Amino acid sequence: MDRNTGEKRRQWGRPLLLLAGALLGFVLLAGPVASQPLRPQMLAAGGGAYAPPSDALSDTERAAIEAMLRANIARLTAEGRLAPAAPSRVTLGWPLAQRAGLADPGYHAVTGFMDHNPNYANQLLDYACGGRTYDTGGGYNHQGTDFYLWPFAWNKMAAGDVAVVAAADGVIIGRREGNSDQSCNFNSNSWNAVYVRHADGSVAWYGHLKRDSVTTKGVGDTVAAGETLGLVGSSGNSTGPHLHFELYDDGQLTDPYAGSCNALDGGGWWMAQRPYYDSAVNKLTTSTAPVDWGACPQPDLTFEVQQFQPGDSITFSTYYRDQLSTQTSLYRLRAPDGSIYAQWSHNSPATYSLSYWWWTYHFPEGVPTGTWRFEVAFEQQTASHNFYVGAPSTVTTTATATPTATPTATPSPSATATATITGTPPTPTATATGTPPTPTATATTAPQPPGWSLFIPIAR
Ligand SMILES: [Zn+2]
Repeated sequence: MDRNTGEKRRQWGRPLLLLAGALLGFVLLAGPVASQPLRPQMLAAGGGAYAPPSDALSDTERAAIEAMLRANIARLTAEGRLAPAAPSRVTLGWPLAQRAGLADPGYHAVTGFMDHNPNYANQLLDYACGGRTYDTGGGYNHQGTDFYLWPFAWNKMAAGDVAVVAAADGVIIGRREGNSDQSCNFNSNSWNAVYVRHADGSVAWYGHLKRDSVTTKGVGDTVAAGETLGLVGSSGNSTGPHLHFELYDDGQLTDPYAGSCNALDGGGWWMAQRPYYDSAVNKLTTSTAPVDWGACPQPDLTFEVQQFQPGDSITFSTYYRDQLSTQTSLYRLRAPDGSIYAQWSHNSPATYSLSYWWWTYHFPEGVPTGTWRFEVAFEQQTASHNFYVGAPSTVTTTATATPTATPTATPSPSATATATITGTPPTPTATATGTPPTPTATATTAPQPPGWSLFIPIAR
């Protein structure tokens, strides 16, 4: 096993510090500061790539699982609890479901497809003839599809935000529960999993489930499409919370995705196959500081707050899946009266499976109070997040208990990187994607970091 590929890899986009130069540009565009006392001032910005998880199943464990499933199928068939395979192929629905009340625009990212190239290491071929898959130096070619929780995977896992659901009706032919779900590195642990046989005889594997979350139904019980099988976790040989999904047809591993490099059976199993690049904003936040990525398996510190006061500094963050090079985002801060208080755009400097960007603004004394809106327009999507300035006077969150940072106290991007990088070195993610998401922005004092095309304060 290639230990390196198993380590929790979190690549840190070099945060972008925009002090003197950007502020100077802002002031020039905005006119004399004294005449524009209510404008927010951008203090700092940053972001970049986040390394996706990986997994592997040893040949020994795979053989044991296959033997267990064969034995269970034989027993259930003998007991009359498994019908003969029907000739028409089933179609698969989406294998995840978010819990009620989770209002984010997205919660997942597909971070790894099946590797159709039998060679290794780093010889990759996904169903669409790209390289969005991985292998190991030990000879493991990724044999399923990885559905990662994004952002804040460990927080989402702890909260039980995302369930693994049956992609099709079927009968449980295997079930594994009770194994630790805190895996951060490659190991020899067993996973928690559910195995479901469909009416056509195909079998789906749902792996890495959270401990004690696996359905209480047992082998031989039926499940319906969309029924919860467990929660996303990081049990077994895994580096972070995700679902590893495998599909077998007539006893042979296959790949459900339709694409010209899926030579197994051509794919076409999904009821509604999502795009190869499924670009979207998953989450917008307002916070008192940029995210502090936790050391695996600790939760990420998000510093999320929705209640602020005039004079506070507010960090606006956006979390993307499949953000492609040159894709443009247009950000807006809308005042309580709906007017555009500030807007800026950002061009993605590279292609990422997982990425995030943040900007910290100082909201001066005298800004309008009430309900504000942070918006981003990205591709065909407009996502928004409300926050509050001034009112109400009684605040229930940390907004009042912990005064938000002053401009000088706001963690600088470089300080954040230094503080959080310990223990999780920013190992390049060459095996994780075909397009290494190395941010090109490395200068910490560049007045116009790559990716920035526009910063336009809008008069109210
Ligand atoms: Zn996987």
